[in-house]
Amino acid sequence: MAEEALISLSGVRREYPAGDATVAVLADVDLDIRAGEFVAIMGASGSGKSTLMNILGCLDRPTAGDYRFEGRSTADLDPDELAELRREHFGFIFQRYHLLSELSALGNTEIPAIYAGVAGADRRERAQAILTRLGLADRLGHRPGQLSGGQQQRVSIARALMNGADVVLADEPTGALDRRSGEEVLKILAELNAEGHTVILVTHDAEVARRARRIVVISDGRIVSDQPNEVAPLERSPAAAHGAGPRTAPSGLGALRALVARFEESFHMAVVAMLAHRLRTFLTMLGIIIGIASVVAMVALGEGSRQKVLSNISSLGTNTLEIFPGKDFGDIRSTRIKTLVLADAEALARETYAAGVTPTVSTSTTLRLGSIEASAQINGVGPDYFQVKATKLKTGRFFDAEAARTMSQEVVIDENTAKTLFPDPSVSPIGAVILVGKVPCTVIGVTQKQQGFGSSGTLSVFLAYTTVQVRFLGDTSLRSILLRVADTVDTSLAEEVATAFLTRRHGTKDFFVLNTDDIRQTITSTTSTLTLLIAAIAVISLVVGGIGVMNIMLVSVSERVKEIGVRMAVGARRSDILRQFLTEAVLVCLVGGVLGVAGAFAAGFVFAAFGSTYVFVYSTTTILAAFACSTLIGVVFGWLPAHGAALLDPVAALARD
Ligand code: ADP
Ligand code: MG
Repeated sequence: MAEEALISLSGVRREYPAGDATVAVLADVDLDIRAGEFVAIMGASGSGKSTLMNILGCLDRPTAGDYRFEGRSTADLDPDELAELRREHFGFIFQRYHLLSELSALGNTEIPAIYAGVAGADRRERAQAILTRLGLADRLGHRPGQLSGGQQQRVSIARALMNGADVVLADEPTGALDRRSGEEVLKILAELNAEGHTVILVTHDAEVARRARRIVVISDGRIVSDQPNEVAPLERSPAAAHGAGPRTAPSGLGALRALVARFEESFHMAVVAMLAHRLRTFLTMLGIIIGIASVVAMVALGEGSRQKVLSNISSLGTNTLEIFPGKDFGDIRSTRIKTLVLADAEALARETYAAGVTPTVSTSTTLRLGSIEASAQINGVGPDYFQVKATKLKTGRFFDAEAARTMSQEVVIDENTAKTLFPDPSVSPIGAVILVGKVPCTVIGVTQKQQGFGSSGTLSVFLAYTTVQVRFLGDTSLRSILLRVADTVDTSLAEEVATAFLTRRHGTKDFFVLNTDDIRQTITSTTSTLTLLIAAIAVISLVVGGIGVMNIMLVSVSERVKEIGVRMAVGARRSDILRQFLTEAVLVCLVGGVLGVAGAFAAGFVFAAFGSTYVFVYSTTTILAAFACSTLIGVVFGWLPAHGAALLDPVAALARD
């Protein structure tokens, strides 16, 4: 042998564990195969032919002995380097074709080129050319299930040739075929050999082996004979050695494009896998959908409520202090405490931090106009009241300082009262005289509806506080003093100073102060507690959803072990397999996230359609966070199954049924 052998096995041994001992399936195999040979490896079933072929094709490693390919030992190669060897030098043809049932003939043929980084258009063109050459031009779009055995085997030959295949390894390629189809396959193999491909044909059939130009007979894991076969027709044309294939390792921009192509492939396969199990995928997604939808909806609802409550508080007036007698709301003595008087209000009004002060008193009585009667809340207020409370007029005017002094009988009514007493919208309430209790009062203004607290159904009218004190209560004590803090002064500071000031006046603290800023802060902090709670629920529900995803990915991987084996045989790297399953997990989660967000919007829409007072305020942050979360869940919970898939042993994966 002058020529350096392409393939060189020396002392190769392959053992499998069998109980406590090991059994040697191959022993002392020495075999040299030169480029361009057509070798048949023949032997009875169970003699070790497939084991030998797997070693030759770098799918498996010998337990002992050395395998050199192109003079280079394969012992030190890592799994990705072995994958590269398979991708660039070997083409496998299996007895059972091993096509991916979800892909067309064209799709199946293209796979090796994807892992080799061939651009999409070139890839398709080459796959088409090879399939056409093998007589499948009109079957490009057919799935394996729509093809006969012979046609499927030709697709698998096309796949083997996709990356060039210096060495074609065929393991019982005719074993599952009828005579005629088998004959065709053998003819193709002979042609390939004539074009310069090294062909290694494994068979138990002497008739088939006769087609090769060298026959190696193997029995019980040992080579028992190795002879040239003169019978085979000599149609060799060495000039065409090493069938042309796109085998240039891409670099720079090409490498980037190849990576993009591999991502595309992962994406495509993920979509195919998801569509193949629609119901299962949807049920898996459901966990994510419900999780994301409920969180986004709850956050939106929480934010909506917060904004509503805050706007209600704003309607109470900004920077206001309200001073009440007693210790707190519900202090039963507060009605008996008469120490909060007008003089206090007047003294406070002279303080520098007070931008406006108004005393308030209140009672309730009946309003009458003609035959209409309604009970109403009577508010006795100072002229600054409306400004302090930021109340707006619908029509008419407010009473002025003069009114308090003269105990005027002018009344400002709210919108509810106006609607009740003046049901006919064409009649203006302004100037009408109504009976407030027994006191006839002239309506001078109608206030706009306030969306504040207690604005629901009650009727409220406003009179000068002196009028209410004298004509209704017969008492000069106040219900409260309302103080608007000057804009330049901090509200809490004003509260402190006013408290000290009044305590000094009264000699004791027989009042309490309500600070609207405090209320605002309380509500804000309550909602942030709520948000935290929602976040906790979110984490729990998404973890549960993620476990569902992991579960289904484990199922998906175990269902597709064979596919993984095929992909590895045609040269997929571990990272390619990892990426494929991670992409699938992330895609399931992302689609779930999108549907979840859509669900949250739908919930808001339904609430609005049914005239609910709940308002959903969606924030971009929440939605982006939802997508980020779903991606993260996909990566985290998809990792374990995908990693497991990537670490599978190609031979074991291929053998799985
Ligand atoms: P052939 O392809 O010639 O029919 P194989 O190479 O597939 O034979 O198998 C040869 C022997 O090795 C058989 O006896 C088989 O039982 C055994 N064998 C193959 N794979 C394994 C394995 N993974 N574990 C244990 N024994 C195995
Ligand atoms: Mg076999």
